[in-house]
Amino acid sequence: MSTTHLTPLDSSKSSITIGIVGGGIGGVVTAIVLGRIGYTVHLFEQAANFAEIGAGISLGPNSLQALSLLSTALDTPILKNYEAVATIEEDNGLWFRFTKWDTQETVAEVHGKGRQSSVHRARLLESFLPLLPVTVTTHFSSKVTKVENLPSDKVLLHTSHPAATFEADVCIGCDGVKSAVRASLGLGGVVRYTGTYAYRGLLPIARTGEVARVPRMWMGPHKHVLTFPIEQGHTLNLVAFVSDHAAPADARTWSGPWVVPTTKDDMKKDFAGWDADVLEYLDLIEKPERWALHELVPLTTWTEGRITLLGDSAHASLPHNGAGAGQATEDAYVLAALLRRPECTNTNIDRFLQAYERVRLPRAARQQVWAVRSGEVYDLESPMGDDWARIGENLKERYRWIWEHDLEKDVEEAVEWLKKEGVVQ
Ligand SMILES: Cc1cc2nc3c(=O)[nH]c(=O)nc-3n(C[C@H](O)[C@H](O)[C@H](O)COP(=O)(O)OP(=O)(O)OC[C@H]3O[C@@H](n4cnc5c(N)ncnc54)[C@H](O)[C@@H]3O)c2cc1C
Repeated sequence: MSTTHLTPLDSSKSSITIGIVGGGIGGVVTAIVLGRIGYTVHLFEQAANFAEIGAGISLGPNSLQALSLLSTALDTPILKNYEAVATIEEDNGLWFRFTKWDTQETVAEVHGKGRQSSVHRARLLESFLPLLPVTVTTHFSSKVTKVENLPSDKVLLHTSHPAATFEADVCIGCDGVKSAVRASLGLGGVVRYTGTYAYRGLLPIARTGEVARVPRMWMGPHKHVLTFPIEQGHTLNLVAFVSDHAAPADARTWSGPWVVPTTKDDMKKDFAGWDADVLEYLDLIEKPERWALHELVPLTTWTEGRITLLGDSAHASLPHNGAGAGQATEDAYVLAALLRRPECTNTNIDRFLQAYERVRLPRAARQQVWAVRSGEVYDLESPMGDDWARIGENLKERYRWIWEHDLEKDVEEAVEWLKKEGVVQ
């Protein structure tokens, strides 16, 4: 893995200070790329250090494309560092073998053009941290409570513990689904319980059969289970979803913490009668957790003045397309490609934020809605019900628009708009 002391590419940007709120995958990638361009970046993270909770994550071909484009454009080994810790299926790799819930009968094998990959979240973040350039200052244990656009064209960030303020030229809220930045903007973001909770955990592959190395998803009534290997095939990541969609989408409620430790007995009770492999894996999970899954109702705008959003703060969704973090990397690519342009100055940077939102918001919002529909397919709640032949055909095409997307065209479109607005020539 490359450890570098990256220096700025464009010293003319250093007079512009960008406050990034949140040091998850979205915030860290954004800090790396904006710092590398040459902006003076201050990253505020409420935790005492960088840490990812949760277990494995899969990144599809579009995410790898975003990391690759960022690496090339900014001569920064983001993709290389990721590849050093990820489990990667080469071109046309298998995303999942989808099977019926109570047997191992295959419904579809879904491959994507381009590379599929999976990784332990903590390793992913660790692989990126050595790439934070000298232009990035991190503020840990710094919870941002509010941000505001000032008449002076500055942005004021308020932090607690200790209570302080920080002035920047731009603020990017990468602070996740419960975003304080989004709340400050008054954009009306509604976060709601999706009616689905998920058991998550890791287990040693050495204690399972060889078939565990194949990424698999079992689909059944109101539930589905997925497994894929991480840590170079040593560990199996498992997520088991349980849904109750009896109430309408805006009337589902959850009380209590979103993430709690759970027991093997609770998990096995929920999946009684499922395929023997599922029950065996549930029994092998070390430290299982139960997550109440919440989503952000798609926003109609996520930028106000010199403040914008990126990642889950802008478009948190159900994880059913395995695409949330991938969308954050796409956000980071488009934002960096625009803010890198020489025409972007402290006088017009707000227009570049608008251009970013214009191309990113519709695609991210589509993914949010698509994730709900994907869950319905897996849980046999879609109009296809349990028509397995139709489900199989649907799954083979279902993710193409997410994976086979032309990000460079998005940037071109954004630049066209900036030209029409007279911001760039
Ligand atoms: C069960 C499950 C499975 C998933 N699987 C996948 C998958 O396979 N593939 C995929 O691409 N995506 C997946 N996702 C989605 C993915 O986890 C998220 O989309 C991604 O982590 C979002 O990253 P982020 O940086 O935007 O937000 P977060 O990861 O939420 O990071 C936000 C950061 O901001 C910090 N923060 C929050 N508030 C403040 C504040 N006020 N001040 C300062 N700091 C603050 C937090 O401490 C945190 O570090 C899954 C999600 C779940 C729940």
